[in-house]
Amino acid sequence: MRILVTGAGGFIGGHLVKDLLKQEHDVVAVDIKPRKDWYQLFPEARNLVLDLREREACRQAMQGVDWVYNLAADMGGMGFIENNKALCMLSVLINTHLLQSAAEIGIERFFFASSACVYAADKQTSPDNPGLKESDAYPAMPEDGYGWEKLFSERMCRHFREDFGLTTRIARYHNVYGPHGTFEGGREKAPAAICRKVIHAKLSGQREIEIWGDGQQTRSFMYIDDCVKGSQMIMSSEIVDPINLGSAEMVTINQLVDIVEEIAGVRLRRRYNLNAPQGVRGRSSDNTLIKQLLHWEPSTPLREGMEKTYAWIYDQMKCRY
Ligand code: NAD
Repeated sequence: MRILVTGAGGFIGGHLVKDLLKQEHDVVAVDIKPRKDWYQLFPEARNLVLDLREREACRQAMQGVDWVYNLAADMGGMGFIENNKALCMLSVLINTHLLQSAAEIGIERFFFASSACVYAADKQTSPDNPGLKESDAYPAMPEDGYGWEKLFSERMCRHFREDFGLTTRIARYHNVYGPHGTFEGGREKAPAAICRKVIHAKLSGQREIEIWGDGQQTRSFMYIDDCVKGSQMIMSSEIVDPINLGSAEMVTINQLVDIVEEIAGVRLRRRYNLNAPQGVRGRSSDNTLIKQLLHWEPSTPLREGMEKTYAWIYDQMKCRY
């Protein structure tokens, strides 16, 4: 099959391209970034630099393509999405123009990477979150900016399916982490940011770490291999409604720091920055539906995935000291 991966120069897109090439698919990889900045670049793929906010670029990327995995978005961790709501919402141009082009060209299947940020704020006020069920997205009160755009684009996928017959699949990713992703610069998410801070403390000898919030907020984190596998399972399935793709192993941010300290073999003083962006109080994935429909759920233990993530970030940083 010929498969288009958008956002292929990014974290999840790079891993997905690698896996699809391993299965001997013909892959078209597209990103807006210059190729030198892609996290992973595979010469076997057709690698295009295009701005997918433009409709003509979407049509160009889709020529001769059977399936589309749409992972392109202007996004980042809490620090980025809380301070760049308009930029996050402009990803609607990517999603609109890709969907329009897919319907016109007659793409067989279209995958949209949605997010746990679509879930309603009032379902995430306690750190003891029992896990968000798919139905918890409505009545709608998602994360401002980024979450509203994702919810709107989910809805657009649904109506393109119902009205224009485009086969769409939607996964709601919950915090994905792993090697070959952003770990500095302002767009990084908690697992990578904490690895970077602990590595900096270890290599520089400054035995202190800043934590955003009081560290009691809870999250679950999905290792990249589970994300790549689950995305393909959802794409190949007959599941038409948005479905959670996340780990149900919920931890506090303090527990995540404990894990990274153990891996690094250090103990650090913790300085809590209560003015930093923290997101919702408690969030995890309820996996009842994915277990029922796919007989599978993301299950890489957090400790195991964090060891691999830490090792990769350590390799990127060690030559700086
Ligand atoms: P990422 O930022 O590493 O990758 C996204 C890529 O999209 C980037 O390389 C970026 O350059 C590219 N892009 C942005 N605007 C573009 C444009 N106009 N044209 C072409 N390419 C463009 O992010 P990621 O973590 O790999 O996320 C992939 C997808 O999964 C995104 O849609 C994101 O919203 C979604 N998601 C990710 C997570 C997570 O924890 N990483 C969680 C929920 C949802």
